[in-house]
Amino acid sequence: MTIRQAHDIFVVRQRGREVAAALGLEEQDQIRIATALSEVARQMLAAVGGAEVSFQAVGRHAPQSLQVDVVSPVPLTQADLTRGDPLPVGRLVDTLSVSHADAVTVVTMSRRLPPSAARLTPERLDALRAELAATSPGSPLDELAAQNQQLIAALDEVRSQRDELARLNAELQETNRGVLALYGQLSEELEETNRGVVALYAELDEKSAQLRGANEAKTRFLANASHELRAPVTAIIGLARLLADASSDPLTAEQLRQVELIRGSATDLLGLVNDLLDLAKAESGRIEPSWEDVDLCAVFGQLRGTLRALASRPQFELVVEEPEPPALIRSDEVLLSRVLRNLLHNGLKFTERGEVRMRARLDDGRWELSVSDTGVGIPPELHERIFEEFYQVPSATPVPGAGTGTGLGLPYARRLVTLLGGSLTVSSEPGRGSTFTVRLPVRGGP
Ligand code: ADP
Repeated sequence: MTIRQAHDIFVVRQRGREVAAALGLEEQDQIRIATALSEVARQMLAAVGGAEVSFQAVGRHAPQSLQVDVVSPVPLTQADLTRGDPLPVGRLVDTLSVSHADAVTVVTMSRRLPPSAARLTPERLDALRAELAATSPGSPLDELAAQNQQLIAALDEVRSQRDELARLNAELQETNRGVLALYGQLSEELEETNRGVVALYAELDEKSAQLRGANEAKTRFLANASHELRAPVTAIIGLARLLADASSDPLTAEQLRQVELIRGSATDLLGLVNDLLDLAKAESGRIEPSWEDVDLCAVFGQLRGTLRALASRPQFELVVEEPEPPALIRSDEVLLSRVLRNLLHNGLKFTERGEVRMRARLDDGRWELSVSDTGVGIPPELHERIFEEFYQVPSATPVPGAGTGTGLGLPYARRLVTLLGGSLTVSSEPGRGSTFTVRLPVRGGP
């Protein structure tokens, strides 16, 4: 098509739209490429007074494109093309390029056909060309009317997009308000919970302070009471011994039996008082271990010597295994001996036949000292209870002559082991004996 006057711009725009429609471009794209074309043609007409326009189908296979060349008969500069009111024409098409050759300037623009468009074969192109040739271009007024329609449609679309945007904005604001409200509610709830937790902690602190106070009062009472009791009970034992002494006035057999009963009871009472005093002392934290290097061989040897006399029963043996030297531990010898003696005593007390065996072995940087017996054993559900003050297993009766005990030995032993930085545990089965294990660090102390 040739452009020589302003009227031609309308025609070329209309043709551009018709070609784009025939090739299968969608309506919006038809308007875009027709607008770009008419704008470039208008500028060229203004700059050099004319132009040639040609339409081409490019590409053999999909995606094919519609290419429009606008050729200026004389060379043009970029400034010539953008003079006046430059439109961002490039944005309306897929490609836009300007080339200069053989004293002409060509502005080439193209738009890709949609995948839905029918493929353009030479035959189809011939048919389309014939179809287009058969229609005569309308008047500039017709094109102006069409352009107006397009403008109205475009404006409509812009308005509906703006409305949609406003609606989305309102929705977003609503959502935001919702989120803010939820956030407010959550932080209030969190604050409420926090207040509750703080109050709970305060109450807990108060309760544990009360408990500590009560425990201290109990310990003080035990210490005072047992201390006060010790002197009169010792006096009773002394008096009973004096009464029964052969050098005193002779007693009748019945009197002698009763005095012996008094002495036995008083001796038991003194044992209880002493145990209570020991435990109260351990609990009040007034026992300070004196840390030293202790030779376990010596401790074991001493215990073997002092307890052998208590183990002179038939079908029974006390075995204190010699630890493999050098068996050194940093601990408090007196407290450690007291713990082990206590455990050995219990073993002797609750084992009629078989043996009580004490051994020491190093295990992963700790000394493991165990006292095992073949005695009555302890039901599993009572393994922790026996460490409570005054608790004694009801079914376990000590061997005759071993005394009744106080139920304070194990709690005391566990306290001492804790003071020495270790632990005291039991494993036992009724009828199969018990093993008490003391685990201590090789280097205890501060
Ligand atoms: P006591 O021996 O003076 O009763 P303990 O605190 O030493 O107090 O022991 C508490 C209880 O644990 C004992 O009364 C006994 O029932 C049980 N017990 C302790 N050692 C053994 C053991 N070696 N075998 C069986 N029962 C034991």
